[in-house]
Amino acid sequence: VTDWQGKHVTVAGLGVSGIPAAKVLHGLGAKVTVVNDGDDARAREQAAELEALGITVRLGDTASMSGSAAGTLPEGTELIVTTPGWKPDKPLFVAAREASVPVWGDVELAWRLRGPDAAPWLAVTGTNGKTTTTQMLASILRAAGLRTAAVGNIGVSLLDVVLGEEEYDVLAVELSSYQLHWAPSLRAHSAAVLNLAPDHLDWHGSMEAYAADKGRIYEGNRVACVYNVADKATEDLVREADVEEGCRAVGFTLGTPAPSQLGVVEGILVDRAFVENRQKNAQELAEVSDVNPPAPHNIANALAAAALARAFGVPPTAVRDGLRAFTPDAHRIAHVADVAGVTYIDDSKATNTHAAEASLSAYESIVWIAGGLAKGATFDELVAKSAKRLRGVVLIGADRALIREALTRHAPEVPVVDLDRTDTGAMLAAVQEAQRLAEPGDTVLLAPGCASMDMFANYNKRGDAFAEAVRELGA
Ligand code: ADP
Repeated sequence: VTDWQGKHVTVAGLGVSGIPAAKVLHGLGAKVTVVNDGDDARAREQAAELEALGITVRLGDTASMSGSAAGTLPEGTELIVTTPGWKPDKPLFVAAREASVPVWGDVELAWRLRGPDAAPWLAVTGTNGKTTTTQMLASILRAAGLRTAAVGNIGVSLLDVVLGEEEYDVLAVELSSYQLHWAPSLRAHSAAVLNLAPDHLDWHGSMEAYAADKGRIYEGNRVACVYNVADKATEDLVREADVEEGCRAVGFTLGTPAPSQLGVVEGILVDRAFVENRQKNAQELAEVSDVNPPAPHNIANALAAAALARAFGVPPTAVRDGLRAFTPDAHRIAHVADVAGVTYIDDSKATNTHAAEASLSAYESIVWIAGGLAKGATFDELVAKSAKRLRGVVLIGADRALIREALTRHAPEVPVVDLDRTDTGAMLAAVQEAQRLAEPGDTVLLAPGCASMDMFANYNKRGDAFAEAVRELGA
């Protein structure tokens, strides 16, 4: 679409992606109607702001609600631009399919609106590690002197970046499975799928549908499709993708890399995919100790970021400098304090079992603080794999019984304190119980494997409460 003048566009959902999309489309001359399922005070405030610009807003719109009867599209709708999190089974989308009206997400809109000389996209998805890898990638690109930004599902709107004044050489783009679902024409320079574990299955409908949406990220890649050698599902997605001629499959592994892979040899990150010097069959990039923190899953993230940067032509020294310059965001395996010989680590961002498994595998003797909202997950695999590392477990939150039962099955000898609490004060009690269980040299690890909303506003607040409690121990 190049001519937006008078085009009838329905924007589905107010909020962080809907409001900028509505404003941009209105600015281009489209006739915009925003539909929103909610009708609360905040929605009314946002609606008033858009209406003042001349945009139509329908609050409490039944077609945009889940489970309502067949919906109607606003009169004359030619295109829907949706908030990525909206489920595909909403009546609005069913009606759109029947009327052959295309549905785009925020990423698709940004992709279509970017200028002809726009910066290429290096894209990252996966069940876990997206934000960390995207930020590592941006750090490496910056170290190479490139003008770049970490954008997408990371809190920085792609629309703002694509339409803004600032110029970029390349973008590091984090994409969620929802965003990919609604981005049919996106074509990245290169892309990585870090890993695939069951998550958000209620939204996608099945593991197959979830994987297929993640796999969209490889479609049309020009230079490299980066996959995880240890996670065959990611390699399968590369094989199924329709890519440009000459685009290569590049694996990353924590082991010794085969040709066309990046991996680790004697504590060195090594590239065997992009080797400039034909005399050599491998290029050294950085040391494992350059990765912060040097936990196994995070070294995998660093290798994926390095693969994308190398696909873009970044030299080895910039990979090393960029990794050294990188510091992880809060609540991702953050070292809080050492108290009486025990180390306290905050990985509140481990909101699903796959993430918790990664952080548990990074320590030897652990007192594990776990629990919260399980979102339909099961804990048997996580507990069975981690049992031998557990000194003890402290359980909090709504779904702690699920974890307790898995512990009874797979780790019956590990002491468990079930706090039976979901109030915010429970975190201090949990940390005190953990201190009692821990011995010098142990790690007390908050890696809940669950979402936080039963007890806290979000995972940040949960991690803050943990750090606060640890400070009280030390005081
Ligand atoms: P995302 O953006 O995908 O949620 P983050 O980079 O914010 O990922 O990391 C979230 C959590 O996932 C981390 O706190 C850590 O527990 C876990 N994690 C990070 N990288 C990986 C990985 N490669 N494999 C498994 N778990 C990971």
